[in-house]
Amino acid sequence: MTQETLPAPDVAPVTPSVRFADLALAEPVMRAINEVGYETPSPIQAESIPLLLEGRDLIGQAQTGTGKTAAFALPLLSKIDLSQVRPQLLVLTPTRELALQVAEAMQTYARHLRGFQILPIYGGQGMGLQLSRLHRGVHVVVGTPGRILDHLGRKSLNLDSLQAVVLDEADEMLRMGFIDDVDQILGHTPAKRQVALFSATMPAPIRRIALRHLNEPQEIKIAAKTATVSAIKQRYWQVRGVHKLDALTRILEATDFDAMIIFVRTKLSTEDLAEKLAARGFASAALNGDLNQQQRERTVERLKQGKLDIVVATDVAARGLDVPRISHVFNYDIPNDTESYVHRIGRTGRAGRSGEAILFVAPREKRMLHAIERATNQKIEPMQLPTRNEIVDRRIGQFKAQLDAVRHTEKLAFFRELVQQYQQENELDMDDVAAALAYLVQKEQPLQPTINDEPTVQAERGQREDKRSREPRSDSGEPRQRREYSREERQEPPIGLDMKRYRIDVGREHGVQAKNIVGAIANEISLDSEYIANISIRDSFTVLDLPDGMPLDVFEHLKSVRVCGRKLDIRVDGSAGKSADARPGRNPNSGPSHKKPFKAKTKSAAPKRKAAAKQAAAPAGSTKLKLKKAKPSKKDGAGSKPPKRKP
Ligand code: ADP
Ligand code: MG
Repeated sequence: MTQETLPAPDVAPVTPSVRFADLALAEPVMRAINEVGYETPSPIQAESIPLLLEGRDLIGQAQTGTGKTAAFALPLLSKIDLSQVRPQLLVLTPTRELALQVAEAMQTYARHLRGFQILPIYGGQGMGLQLSRLHRGVHVVVGTPGRILDHLGRKSLNLDSLQAVVLDEADEMLRMGFIDDVDQILGHTPAKRQVALFSATMPAPIRRIALRHLNEPQEIKIAAKTATVSAIKQRYWQVRGVHKLDALTRILEATDFDAMIIFVRTKLSTEDLAEKLAARGFASAALNGDLNQQQRERTVERLKQGKLDIVVATDVAARGLDVPRISHVFNYDIPNDTESYVHRIGRTGRAGRSGEAILFVAPREKRMLHAIERATNQKIEPMQLPTRNEIVDRRIGQFKAQLDAVRHTEKLAFFRELVQQYQQENELDMDDVAAALAYLVQKEQPLQPTINDEPTVQAERGQREDKRSREPRSDSGEPRQRREYSREERQEPPIGLDMKRYRIDVGREHGVQAKNIVGAIANEISLDSEYIANISIRDSFTVLDLPDGMPLDVFEHLKSVRVCGRKLDIRVDGSAGKSADARPGRNPNSGPSHKKPFKAKTKSAAPKRKAAAKQAAAPAGSTKLKLKKAKPSKKDGAGSKPPKRKP
């Protein structure tokens, strides 16, 4: 929570005259708002607060960044009876990051409520701590559905005194497959509690939940989808000719940014890319679901404090991240759906600041680019990579700045003498000495790098028109060397991978969808969803491909995993193992860059995995897959699995 004075987030107030002071919030809560520095309530706050204070049920539809947390937290905190140390308010969030973020925000708003107790509850954290805190008593519980259900099952969480329930980001909970859990939890709550449901979109299953559990809800709808992204400058670069990593580095070098979040598709790519950027001198780190909660918090904290400038993240790990200094969002891998894009770029332009988003679009991803433009109702402008001249100018500028800094801060007497001595010994001009030194200094990062400029858009157009010439032309019209296209553009997976066909005991008649299966398996055994392929849902069972060589204990664990209430009871299907990439000459187990889909989960293995992952950014076999997205399973703890060893 920032202490500076912030403008109300995003959309312009519909009722500009409303002030916090008009809203009948409890005095200690008002004091906290003043200290935090919110000037005026955002539209969703102005509309929700009076209704929630009155005790009405509410459906609030608003995009991320519109200030929903305070919209429910301020009124509901105002109504807490501090003398009753029992759960009076339950907030359900889709991820632990959000649970923590909401809990932290509420703690701030409640800082003048004496003896106030709030507890975030999420999978992946040890049960012991949660149990003892619950036992001692809390006023508010903020948690993810899976773990809340666990506690209800153990009777360690008692909701008899509950006054209100908030469903935060309900559509996200639906998307992640938690909606049945939410339904069940609501069923456990007293009949007379108040319910506030917040969601960016209102798909039918959310409406059904609302119908079933809400009592004459008042509906509030704030601003169009486009409002959230309008403050963000969006551009894309069409991937061609230059490898994405080099293109990224070039853009980073030529861009003034405060902090940046870079989105990639897989956990492994987060580490791989973060490492490569670090090697190129950027203060970067990975943020993914393999890190434990503490590590993730530490990374976010370091980003907030400016100890890191770049975080490379997956969608899931970065959801809801609120770090005001993020000035740029970089979509290194295009997202799988338009909603993710909106979520991603919503990490910048927070609380009224401006932000920039850059997107890499490979030729085959053009479709998604257009889908995004339609969904956000905004055109994303094409951009060119910084030219060699721009890079040279940048580097020269930095070089001069370094010289200035050294001249002003360092003691140079010894070096002055050394240089003079050298000059006299060799009877040189001082210019020549200085030039030689300058050359030495820039050797690692040359001031005159060999970089080929991209063909400009005009040049490309010319090329298309001039059918006789197959060579791209530069600005001057000179034919240019044809470049080797990178593997990425040939759309081939880097390495083959043997897959095996499995059968699981859940099928269409149990109501299962592919996303539930991918979510459960990906999360339960920490397998990147790219490896879960060719899912075929039949009436009473499903067959699917998983990488060959699954460790026995992982296999055993998967047997007992439940999807749609049914044990998977996974087993090898039929006879033949399948190969997802059967091109000849590709031995999946040879070659240093082969990536192991099944990861060791022990802590000490993590750094080693990092090293092994070094060369394997792109997932094997990815072009053949029907399913792309990682979805956490019903039980939300990615970190709560037992360690695995290959037998
Ligand atoms: P949402 O849940 O809608 O995505 P948040 O509740 O996370 O949005 O709020 C987004 C940001 O706006 C947070 O940094 C929060 O501190 C800030 N914020 C919320 N309400 C106000 C307000 N009235 N004035 C200024 N900033 C606010
Ligand atoms: Mg929120």
